[in-house]
Amino acid sequence: MCAGIVFADIIMASSKPKKKGNKVQLATFMRWDLPTFGFEVEEEDGFSKVVKMWCKVCSKHIDKIKIDGRIRGVARVDIQSFAEGTKFVSKHTAQRHLQSKVGELK
Ligand SMILES: [Zn+2]
Repeated sequence: MCAGIVFADIIMASSKPKKKGNKVQLATFMRWDLPTFGFEVEEEDGFSKVVKMWCKVCSKHIDKIKIDGRIRGVARVDIQSFAEGTKFVSKHTAQRHLQSKVGELK
């Protein structure tokens, strides 16, 4: 529990806007058809909800990405948060991530 709070604080400190978590129903998430993303599900009010998602590509290549000088600033923060997992689950965020620098690394 405590570790989770510390983790969240680090993420918020490293990205400019203070982001609130966003969760979606599992059925909705599946409709987005984003096989590149891993996710964590929790039961809430009788529904399965996706409470966390991460990018499989970034989490696999994060060590390489960290030493890649071509990736800086916002792109780097984006990749790091998607490699570790973000609690802001949204289609727009996921798609934006896929269109970012990461595509070049595959
Ligand atoms: Zn990624």
